[in-house]
Amino acid sequence: MGDALTNEDWFARARRVIPGGVDSPVRSFAAVGGTPYTVVRGEGPYVWDAEGRRYVDLVQSYGAVILGHGHRAVTAALSEAIVAGTTFGAPTPGEVLLAEALTAAVAGCEQVRLVSSGTEAAMSALRVARGYTGRDRIVKFDGCYHGHADALLAGGGSGLSTLGLPGSAGVPAAAVAHTLVVPYNVVPELDDQVACVVVEPVAANMGLVPPAPGFLQGLRRACDEAGALLVFDEVITGFRVGSGGASAAYDVTPDLWCFGKVIGGGLPMGAFGGRRDVLAVLAPTGPVYQAGTLSGNPLATAAGRAVLEHLAPGDYLALAERAARFALRLADAIGGAGLPVRVPVLGPLVGLFLSEHEVTDYASARVAVSEGRYPAFFSAMLERGVALAPGPYEVLFPGLAHSDEVLDTVVDVAAEAAAAAASALTGRGRP
Ligand SMILES: *Cc1c(COP(=O)(O)O)cnc(C)c1O
Repeated sequence: MGDALTNEDWFARARRVIPGGVDSPVRSFAAVGGTPYTVVRGEGPYVWDAEGRRYVDLVQSYGAVILGHGHRAVTAALSEAIVAGTTFGAPTPGEVLLAEALTAAVAGCEQVRLVSSGTEAAMSALRVARGYTGRDRIVKFDGCYHGHADALLAGGGSGLSTLGLPGSAGVPAAAVAHTLVVPYNVVPELDDQVACVVVEPVAANMGLVPPAPGFLQGLRRACDEAGALLVFDEVITGFRVGSGGASAAYDVTPDLWCFGKVIGGGLPMGAFGGRRDVLAVLAPTGPVYQAGTLSGNPLATAAGRAVLEHLAPGDYLALAERAARFALRLADAIGGAGLPVRVPVLGPLVGLFLSEHEVTDYASARVAVSEGRYPAFFSAMLERGVALAPGPYEVLFPGLAHSDEVLDTVVDVAAEAAAAAASALTGRGRP
């Protein structure tokens, strides 16, 4: 039945019953134009759409997948777990084992509580920080994404430090009245009203923007001096830049961590954790309420554990080497075809700005993106069987299933796609 429907058919049906046709806005292709492909299957580095077309998938569920789609380790663990029941609302061994794996891997993270998304993890970490310090103010960085909790959906004004403006309709000014938004890569001044500073230690939601030398260390020092907590949102970097995440990679230990994506093995999962004395404020031992019917879900913990057990230290090194080689070759291919390009890379994370503008924060990322080349390049890649994220602020997620051969194919396709995009853009007077 489904086989006969085209992507267009599915999207038309979706739009009737799902707002905008999608369950998360970026999937709608609003930023790049055209009709989203409806995925019916994935395997390793590939996905197939409703029309039977295969794409090299560099989205990988925005980083939730690291072993590739449908990996045996995950499907076997899920098959085993599912016959024992899917949720109980009682403690399970699986959540203990996953919490043990997370705390063993991340130095300084003594305890974790499991939730069902990165949004929940960040929202809960904030509440803990406020409950622990007795302070209301939070500091976030412009262009960092921490999910869609009200207090974190705040935008900054033109690169200046500003008290947050609601970043979305439906967020009352009061909900962001205690949120200070400051530019990334600059250590802000903190006072004794600040409960916490929350940061993506490697920013990967404004394209890829690595931390400037000393930035994370500076945040640690500023927080210590102000008596504020430092929160690392490692929803992307956790178990991707290495088993110890960015905190180990940069040797900066926050007070609280947020995890998500990789740790759920492709199932809905998040976690927040940190120092034991900080987390003691959580109910039932302390006064900060936080809860979840499906938290620590047995399927999600089984999938997450399978991924973490499968990842060996050598895998992270191999992935970083592959990504570094890929980034260089991708930049050459795109630049060689006449499109301005920067391909930042950090460990396994690869960014893509179709601009020569240097990007160090959200203001400069916006300038690079405003040059407007991404949609044409994205479409040219998709036509040729490579799926990038349908938005210019996302990063590429080559994973362990993306062999050098697969990535070489992407590079070849990118050379052609860049040439096609360059001529299309020149035709519109915008090379
Ligand atoms: C994806 C993401 C989130 C939100 O996670 P969801 O599971 O989508 O709610 C939070 N922080 C960062 C850094 C993310 O990349």
